[in-house]
Amino acid sequence: MEIEKILQGQKDFFKTQQTKNIAFRKMYLEKLRNLLIANEDMLYEAINKDFGKSKFDTFTTEISFLLKDIDYYLKNLKSLSKPKKVGTNLVNQLGSSKIYSDPLGCILVIGAWNYPYQLSLSPLIAAIAAGNCCILKPSEIAENTMMAMATIINENFPSDYLYVYEGGIDETTALLHLKFDKIFFTGSTKVGKIIYKAAAEHLTPVVLELGGKSPAIVTKEANLEVAAKRIVWGKFLNAGQTCVAPDYVLLEESIQEQFMEMLRKYIKEFKYEPDSEQYTRIINRKNFQRLIHLIHPENVYFGGHFDEEKLYIEPTILNNSDWNEDIMQEEIFGPILPVISFQSFNSALNSILELEKPLAAYLFTNNAEEKELFTRKLSFGGGCINDTVMHLSNDNLPFGGVGNSGIGNYHGKFGFETFSHQKSVLEKTTWGEPNIKYPPYSEKKLSWIKRFL
Ligand code: NAD
Repeated sequence: MEIEKILQGQKDFFKTQQTKNIAFRKMYLEKLRNLLIANEDMLYEAINKDFGKSKFDTFTTEISFLLKDIDYYLKNLKSLSKPKKVGTNLVNQLGSSKIYSDPLGCILVIGAWNYPYQLSLSPLIAAIAAGNCCILKPSEIAENTMMAMATIINENFPSDYLYVYEGGIDETTALLHLKFDKIFFTGSTKVGKIIYKAAAEHLTPVVLELGGKSPAIVTKEANLEVAAKRIVWGKFLNAGQTCVAPDYVLLEESIQEQFMEMLRKYIKEFKYEPDSEQYTRIINRKNFQRLIHLIHPENVYFGGHFDEEKLYIEPTILNNSDWNEDIMQEEIFGPILPVISFQSFNSALNSILELEKPLAAYLFTNNAEEKELFTRKLSFGGGCINDTVMHLSNDNLPFGGVGNSGIGNYHGKFGFETFSHQKSVLEKTTWGEPNIKYPPYSEKKLSWIKRFL
């Protein structure tokens, strides 16, 4: 079916007001929940075909995430949607003021391939919860997962409510010519700029969930075993193809040897081997080629092996990297971890301040002053102290970037707000109003108003 017709169908359906009904939203959220469970095996199979992601990783980082999202909205939808009573200022007495969370209308979600289910369906779930219709365009790069989502949604939901539009750049470009009420995009900063420009033509608001170079700082005050274990996990999960993966490590010089050994130990312990079914592959040859050209053999401390047939790149640690090297010029988005040493904590923070604002930042230390400096001085989307990646699993924290790493946020109540308009309504009584605001004006009225305001 032509996409213009689908969107028009959604616009007409939205006007019927049915999506504003809380029971309607809950019914469809429950339906999606049941479908995700019933089709779990198909979802595992599709993602495994796309880039060898294991069942364990797919459940923990994708499916369970979506089920948690749905459960959150099923539980909290009533209170989230309830009009919020707020105070009324003196000049509007005797009146009352409320904020209504209004659905926006028709949403366009454009997904990325690296967590294809989570990044496409989590915004769609929040859009449903907030009472919208939605067209989802997943990433064509993870083709099998795109088809799996299209099967689940298009075969079970009316297209004038929810629809998965399969396609690549041409199809996305066609979608961007249409007028949506909000565009939610996850992907690279480069494409984010294309989306933002196209949205401006229609004055469509956007959420841009982008990437960047997210640092992990390790100081001599850290619990080094914990730091190494959590950095290795956060970096090599999904073979480094995670938007919030630690991109590089900034390491205090005095602990360099000791810490590098620990990184090596945990990589070995986690058994990320060429034939392991638990270690994800690189998504395609283009990214594989891009990544292996970033490995300069003279810098390899650990790893560095790869197998193009299997699209396997061994977890690789680069020692004594330099800010000027090519690996430090762009987001790595693969299983290569450069380590740069620093002498003073402040100089490490200053180096980060020289770069674009990252999507995430991580600090490993037990020193209160370092924690305080890190949170106060740096600007980043979100992050952790003494962990990596896990901040995005807490629905009480908004998830999104800042500056080059994005605009807007979602998860939990923030997702609901992202897909709602906060509509203000002041209700006045029809009595008890002094006449002084109405013409004809006089000096006397002005002097009263001056005193009053
Ligand atoms: P991408 O920008 O190449 O593609 C994202 C989407 O945009 C896809 O659906 C694709 O079809 C579409 N697209 C690509 N080129 C386009 C064009 N010229 N015009 C219109 N649409 C186009 O990103 P990707 O490779 O899928 O994902 C990797 C990037 O996404 C990394 O930078 C990563 O950090 C970022 N990312 C961010 C988050 C987050 O939540 N902030 C999550 C995952 C990935």
